[in-house]
Amino acid sequence: MKVSVRPSARSYILSYKPYNSFAIAQTQFDGVAEILGLDAPTRDLLRQPMREYSFAIPIRLDDGSTQVFRGFRIQHNDARGPSKGGIRFHPQETQDTVRALAMWMTWKCAVVDLPLGGAKGGVICDPHNLSEREQEAICRGWVRQMVRNVGPQGDVPAPDVMTNAQHMLWMLDEYEHITGSKAPGFITGKPVTSGGSFGRTEATGYGVIFTVREALKELNVRASDTTASVQGFGNVAQYAIRLYEQLGGTTVCVSCWDQADQTSYAYQKKDGVNVDELLTATDRFGGIDQGKAKDLGYRVLPGEDWLKQEVDILIPAAMENQIVEENVHDISDRVKIIAEGANGPTTTEADAVLRRRNVVVIPDFLANAGGVTCSYFEQVQGNMNYYWSKDEVLGKLDSKMTAGFIAVSDLARARTLYLRDAAYVIAIDRVARACRDRGWI
Ligand code: GLU
Repeated sequence: MKVSVRPSARSYILSYKPYNSFAIAQTQFDGVAEILGLDAPTRDLLRQPMREYSFAIPIRLDDGSTQVFRGFRIQHNDARGPSKGGIRFHPQETQDTVRALAMWMTWKCAVVDLPLGGAKGGVICDPHNLSEREQEAICRGWVRQMVRNVGPQGDVPAPDVMTNAQHMLWMLDEYEHITGSKAPGFITGKPVTSGGSFGRTEATGYGVIFTVREALKELNVRASDTTASVQGFGNVAQYAIRLYEQLGGTTVCVSCWDQADQTSYAYQKKDGVNVDELLTATDRFGGIDQGKAKDLGYRVLPGEDWLKQEVDILIPAAMENQIVEENVHDISDRVKIIAEGANGPTTTEADAVLRRRNVVVIPDFLANAGGVTCSYFEQVQGNMNYYWSKDEVLGKLDSKMTAGFIAVSDLARARTLYLRDAAYVIAIDRVARACRDRGWI
C-alpha cells in the first residue's frame, strides 16, 4: 500500500505578537497547582520536563547539497507509564513549543486515564518543500539520533502536525534496522497494513465530536439544531466535520491554509460544508483551490472569518495560539461551545475572556485526546497481536472519551470550576499521586 506523504496540516501563523506556548502551559499549571495545594517539590517537578533532547539531523538533499535540520524530543513526565506523544514537522517549531506540547501530553493521557506519560518531538522543517526521499531521510535521521532514548517500554512516538502513517513506518523501519529486532510497539499511528489500528485516522476528530455531543446533552441542545465553524482542514478537522454531520449538525465554515499565498482563507457554505466535495477542490499540498471551491458554491472569505461566524460551536483544529486577545471579541455571543481540536489554540488572555462569558470551552487535552487513546489501543492490540474491528475500536474510543468528559464535567459542576481547570485538577492530581507513590517527591 502506498501511504501519502502529502503534508496534512498547515501553519496558521498570525501577524499578532509571538506567544510562548510553554509560558501558557506553565501559567495553566500554576493556577491548578494552587487549587490542588501542591507542595513546592511537586510543582518544581511538574512545571518542567524531566528530560530534553535537542539534536542535529544532517540530510543529503536531492540536489546533492547537505542541510542540517534541528530535531527535538522532550519527555515531560513518565510516572504513569511510558512517555507518549507525536512528532511534528513544522518550519516554526521551537523547543519551547515542544516543551508545552510534551506537558500537555502528560495531562492528556492522565485525564482519560491512560497508563502513559507525556512527550513530544519535532523537527524544524517544512515538508511542503521536501521530496518524499528527503522526508524519509529526516525520519530515519531523527530515529538514529534518538534510538537510545526511545522505545516500546520508555517513550513511544506517534504522528502529529504534518507527519502521518508513512513517516511512522519509515521511523519504525529505521528503529528495527538499528536494534535488529521487530518492535511494532516502538511507534503508533502506523498504517493498518503494518500493525496500525483501525480508526486511528478518524480518532482525534471523532473524539472531539464525542465530547461536543456530551456537552450538547448537558446544555439540552440537539446537535441537529446547531451549526459549527472549524479552523483547519487537516485530518482532525475533516473527521470532526464528518461525525458532526452524522449527528445532524451543520458545519457552515471551514478555514484552510493556502500555500501559494502563505495565508489562510475561510470557505463558507450556509447549507453545510461537505468534506468529500471539498476534497475534490484540494491542490497538491492539501490546500483548497479557491476557483474550484467557488464553483462548488463556497464563499471565500479572509481566514480569520472562521471565528466570526454566527454559530453555536467553534472548533479550532489547526495550530496553537489562534484564539488570542486581539480576536476573542470577534466571537459571536451565539457561540456556546468551543471544542479545542488543536493543542493550545487559546492564549491565557483569550481564555480569561471566554471564562467570563461562560462559554463551554472543552480544553484541548480532553477534546483531542481521541488520537492518543487510539494510539494506546494500537499498543494494546500490537501486544496481543490480535486486532479489533473498526467498530470495536471506535466503540471503545467513544466509551473512553465519554467517561473522560463526564468525569471532568461532574467535577466542574460539583466545585464550580471552569472545564479547563476541572480537567487539569483530575489530570495533575493523578500524575502528582503517581510521582508521590513512586517516592519521587
Ligand atoms: N499527536 C497526537 C496528540 O497530540 C497523538 C499522540 C499519540 O498518539 O501518541 O495527541
